[in-house]
Amino acid sequence: MPSSSSDVASPQAPVETAAAQARRGKPRKVPRIVVLGGGTVGLYTARRLRKRLGKREAAIVVVDPRPYMTYAPFLPEAAAGSIDARYVVAPHRRALKGVDVLQGKVSQINHAERTVEITPEEGDAYWITYDHLVVGLGSVARTLPIPGLAEIGIGFKNVEEAIALRNHVLNRIDVAASTWDPALRKRMLTFVFVGGGFAGVEALGEVEDMARAAVKYYKAIEQEELRFVLVEGSPRILPEVSEELGGYTLEVLRKRDIEIHLSTFLSSCVDGHVVLSNKMEFDAETIVWTAGVKANPVLQNSDLPLDKLGRLICNAYLQVTQEDGTVVPDAYGAGDCAAVPDLYNPGKFCPPNAQHALREGNHLGDNLARVLRSAPPTEYKHKNVGAVASLGMYKGVAQMFGRIKVKGFLAWVLHRSYHVAAMPTFNRKIRIAAGWTGALLLRREVVAMGSLHDPRAEFRAASVPPKPRAVEVGEALPPQKAEPGSPAAKSTKAATA
Ligand SMILES: Cc1cc2nc3c(=O)[nH]c(=O)nc-3n(C[C@H](O)[C@H](O)[C@H](O)COP(=O)(O)OP(=O)(O)OC[C@H]3O[C@@H](n4cnc5c(N)ncnc54)[C@H](O)[C@@H]3O)c2cc1C
Repeated sequence: MPSSSSDVASPQAPVETAAAQARRGKPRKVPRIVVLGGGTVGLYTARRLRKRLGKREAAIVVVDPRPYMTYAPFLPEAAAGSIDARYVVAPHRRALKGVDVLQGKVSQINHAERTVEITPEEGDAYWITYDHLVVGLGSVARTLPIPGLAEIGIGFKNVEEAIALRNHVLNRIDVAASTWDPALRKRMLTFVFVGGGFAGVEALGEVEDMARAAVKYYKAIEQEELRFVLVEGSPRILPEVSEELGGYTLEVLRKRDIEIHLSTFLSSCVDGHVVLSNKMEFDAETIVWTAGVKANPVLQNSDLPLDKLGRLICNAYLQVTQEDGTVVPDAYGAGDCAAVPDLYNPGKFCPPNAQHALREGNHLGDNLARVLRSAPPTEYKHKNVGAVASLGMYKGVAQMFGRIKVKGFLAWVLHRSYHVAAMPTFNRKIRIAAGWTGALLLRREVVAMGSLHDPRAEFRAASVPPKPRAVEVGEALPPQKAEPGSPAAKSTKAATA
């Protein structure tokens, strides 16, 4: 529901477009800037705009279905439990002071009429009008029509998926420890990651590290039983860093017994039966899809100009333009959903990463504030400072300023320092740092909250009327015999040793 500003049309209010207003000759007293998406671009743009412009100069509205911005570079650590998942998000209502927040999905953009349609989680869709539009709608997972993928695969783009993956992996270990069916055990303990870019390699590195730390507490499971598989279509991993550093990462992961298949594709995974393009076949309960992203498809429901990849066409001022470079008035874009020219690499576009999205957001806020004060906008220009990746506790790789390559513990420290500095709000920085300090002293948490995803299951079961008892009261049940070599037998042996 719309928050404080009375300037925002309520869901029930009739549609009133800018064109309609113009016809009625009633200009808005304070121009309204609508920011689509409250992620990296959205949050930083809105904050910068609010800092630069007084409330009488502009009303700012941020629209997002989630009530928070997610700092995605910390998702792998959230999945591993090194950071509390709540702390990798910045709540909009706290981080966006002086900004109106509308919770809902943008479902259509009609820029000609200066209106956007918003679909809330509950209730009817409604339209709001604006004077200036900022599009920071990000990206979604780029999937392929692989048989079984939609049914069994899990993405790794948001905090809900990171929490679910953590609980799922720890829960599979619990399930494997409590069955004596060897095929089922193998399937439960096989984890497949598809996509060897930053997100995939970091997620794999962190989750594998967490799983190995967890298995130490299970007498019934040996470390060798854990099988982690990385499938990558290209001949190398981590295209974001040099070939040498990518090769080093490959070596580090292989030393950890992670199976890596390069130049290989996932062909099928129906019911968890994985088939790779190199003819390898095996069963797995966990298939994590991290094979790239594409611009948010909701942009297709707009009259804004898009390139062949579905990204908003933008110039270096972060203004939306037509293909021929003509500026589309009052429309701005940045981040994963926009094709912004990279002025340091002529002919190329800024890569879809947080390093650019965050800076573009700030720059866009500055530019729009300048335009509203009749000053010319300035070009966005940022030279890549490097890349840092965490591969588990105390392990990492980094490449700074193109040439400086760092590995191991130092790279891991660099990763943590860089990202905690970039994490929005002082509150979150402190909480993350405090969490890390606690983990150093108390070790990481390896408990699975398996029932988190169906919290009503136990209550439902309790609500079913009891069946009449099959055995007479006082009659003893026959003793259960554990099969030799089964986890139950192993646990009994361990307990009696
Ligand atoms: C696992 C992972 C690890 C990463 N690691 C790194 C890293 O180490 N370094 C790095 O530089 N980059 C990293 N990235 C990339 C980086 O996070 C993104 O490039 C960056 O967040 C893009 O910012 P954005 O604002 O364009 O999109 P986002 O931050 O994704 O924001 C998009 C927002 O739009 C909202 N939205 C979506 N649909 C709608 C709709 N219909 N209506 C309204 N709102 C909508 C979403 O809820 C979201 O809040 C990583 C990404 C992932 C997934």
